[in-house]
Amino acid sequence: MYMTVLKNYFLFLMAFGLVLSACGGEGITNRPNSRHYEFCVACKEEYKGKGVRLHTPDVREENLFDDVLNLNGLAKRPYFICRAKRLRGNTAAYATSKVINGRRVKYVVYDSEYFGDIDGIEALFVIAHEIGHVVTPSHPDDTQHDRENYADYFAGHTMYRMGISLWSALEQASTETPATDMHPSGVETQGAIRDGWKTAERVSKKYSRL
Ligand SMILES: [Zn+2]
Repeated sequence: MYMTVLKNYFLFLMAFGLVLSACGGEGITNRPNSRHYEFCVACKEEYKGKGVRLHTPDVREENLFDDVLNLNGLAKRPYFICRAKRLRGNTAAYATSKVINGRRVKYVVYDSEYFGDIDGIEALFVIAHEIGHVVTPSHPDDTQHDRENYADYFAGHTMYRMGISLWSALEQASTETPATDMHPSGVETQGAIRDGWKTAERVSKKYSRL
């Protein structure tokens, strides 16, 4: 009897381990305490059959995400970040939302392969840009280019507050990039980044003199 109980317990542990590994691999098993875990699991159903699997974020990206929220006093808002592999259309990251228990929750999904190849400042810029989409209020008259400009403005603003030079901030866009339906030209993007960065500088200096 005792052996049967032990055997059943062993089988249960094995099955539990299999379920954990089937649920999404390294992100889940390595980082069970991530506050993004339950959210990313909840989203999995939605992505089933679309070729995208969501996982909890890697440490660097989770820290950058939290740093941007903390810097803007948004630490306790229900925003989440999830990691995926090879997002469609070579997208580095995107911001979106999902209704959970009748409440719309905004979140960012980033491509782990793209982020594996970029440095900390570029990763910060992309995450700040996506959070810019999440936190900037939308208006019915906004065009797609307007929304991108607001996100770049927010990212430029964040970079100033993180002590990153205007030059490094502007480097995140190339003047060679032409406009598309989705995105403004590189020149316009740099303009939005500069506006955000300069506004943060002007306001900070104004109050630091008081
Ligand atoms: Zn964008």
